[in-house]
Amino acid sequence: MKYDTIVVGSGPAGSVTARFAAEAGVKVLVIERRSEVGVPVLCGEGISRKIDDWDMLEGDRWIAGKMDGARIYSPDKTCVTLAAEQAGNETGYVVYRDIFDQELARRAIKAGAEYMTNTQAIGLLKKKDNITGIKAKHFDEILEIEADIIVGADGVDSKVGQWANINTRLDPKDLETCCQYTLSNIDVKDAYCEFYLGKEIAPGGYVWVFPKGPNIANVGIGILASLSESGMAKKLLDDFIQKDPRLKNGSPIRFLAGAVPVANPVETVRDNLLLVGDAARHVDPITGGGLTHCLEGGKIAGEIIGKAVEEKDFTQDFLSEYEKRWKEAFGQKIKRNYIVKEILLDMNDKTFNKIAHSLQEIVFDEISTYALIKAVVKKHPTLMMKLAPLLKYRKKIKEIEVE
Ligand SMILES: Cc1cc2nc3c(=O)[nH]c(=O)nc-3n(C[C@H](O)[C@H](O)[C@H](O)COP(=O)(O)OP(=O)(O)OC[C@H]3O[C@@H](n4cnc5c(N)ncnc54)[C@H](O)[C@@H]3O)c2cc1C
Repeated sequence: MKYDTIVVGSGPAGSVTARFAAEAGVKVLVIERRSEVGVPVLCGEGISRKIDDWDMLEGDRWIAGKMDGARIYSPDKTCVTLAAEQAGNETGYVVYRDIFDQELARRAIKAGAEYMTNTQAIGLLKKKDNITGIKAKHFDEILEIEADIIVGADGVDSKVGQWANINTRLDPKDLETCCQYTLSNIDVKDAYCEFYLGKEIAPGGYVWVFPKGPNIANVGIGILASLSESGMAKKLLDDFIQKDPRLKNGSPIRFLAGAVPVANPVETVRDNLLLVGDAARHVDPITGGGLTHCLEGGKIAGEIIGKAVEEKDFTQDFLSEYEKRWKEAFGQKIKRNYIVKEILLDMNDKTFNKIAHSLQEIVFDEISTYALIKAVVKKHPTLMMKLAPLLKYRKKIKEIEVE
C-alpha cells in the first residue's frame, strides 16, 4: 500500500487536512481506530459562527442550535452578557459533533481521500532514519502502509508525535479533565451558552451549559488536572446540577469524560511528519475550545501538503511553511491566551467578582475572549498589576494592551 500522505485520525483536524490535500491532487489515506467517524462524541459541541465564512460544512444537519449570545457568571453569580444584538454574527453554534465530524469526512472523501476505520496506527515505518509510512492494525491484520508525508491528527493522546521524538508530554497544569452530561427535560429555554467560573465551582476551569434544543443541553465541567483528584470533576458537576433548579430534574441521555490540552503548542513539523489539531496542542488555553483551530490548521496543512507533493519536496524545510502559516493565523492568540490562563489561575474568587461587577454595563461589540481580555485590562489597568503574584506578568499584559 502506497499513498502520498497518511493521516492518522479522522477528527476535524484529520478530515480537513485530508480534504484540502486531496483537493490539491494528493493521494490521501485517513486511518481511524474507531469503527465510526465521530463516535463516541467527546465534546461540548460549541463553535464560533465565524466558520460560516470558511466553506467547511454543507447543509445544516450538523447544527443543533444557533446561539443568540453568551452569559458568563462570576462566583457570586454576577452575569456578564455578550448578546447577539451587540455582536452581529459573532455568536456561535451548538453542533451535533458526530454529524459534524462525518460531514467533514464526507467532504474529504468527495475530494478523493480514502478512509479506513477499525485501523489503529501502532508505529512508524522507517528506513534507516527516514520515516516511510505507518504500521497499523486493521482488525487482526498488521498493515505496512507507505507514504511520503505522515500527519498526526490523533488527538490529545497523540502517539504519532512521540514516535517522531516530538515532546508532546502534557504537564498536569496544562491539561483539563472534563466530563459532561447531555441533560434532557430541563428548564433551559433560550439560546445562550452559559459559563460559570469560580474556584469552588470548577478549579482552574468552568462549568458550561450549552443548549442543544428546547429543554436539552450539554452540561459539562473542565477542571485543571493539577488542581483535581480522581472523580472530582464528576462530583463537582453533580453538585452544580443539584443546586440549579432548572437542571436538577433533568435526565441524562449521554455522559462523557475526556481531556483537553490547555498548553502551548508543540513543534509541529519533524522531517516529513506534521501534527495538527489537539495533537499539535492547537487549543485555546482559556476556553479549551479546539474546533476552529482544527479547521484553520487542517486547511493550512492540507494546502502545504498539496504543494509538497506537486514539487516532490518532502523535506522539513519545505513543510515548515505549515508551522509558519498556522503561527501567523492563530499562534499569537494561543500564546497570549496561555499567559492570560496563568493570570486567571492566580486570581481569587473575590477578584473575579470585582471584574464581573465592572464589566456588567459594557456593551461588547464582539463575542470573544479577546474582547473580554481587552475590557478587563482597560477597566482595571492597575487591579491586575496590584496583585502581587501577578507582577511577573506585568510586561506581558502591556504587550496584550498594545496588540
Ligand atoms: C469534554 C470536552 C468538551 C469539549 N468541548 C469543546 C467545545 O465545546 N468546543 C470546542 O471547540 N472544542 C471542545 N473540545 C475540544 C475538541 O473536542 C477538540 O479540540 C477536537 O476534538 C480536536 O480535534 P482533533 O481532530 O484534533 O482530534 P479528535 O477529535 O480527538 O480526533 C482524533 C481522532 O484520532 C483517532 N486516533 C487516535 N489515535 C489513533 C491511532 N493510533 N490510530 C488511528 N486513529 C487514532 C481517534 O479515535 C479520534 O477519532 C472539548 C473537548 C472535550 C474532551
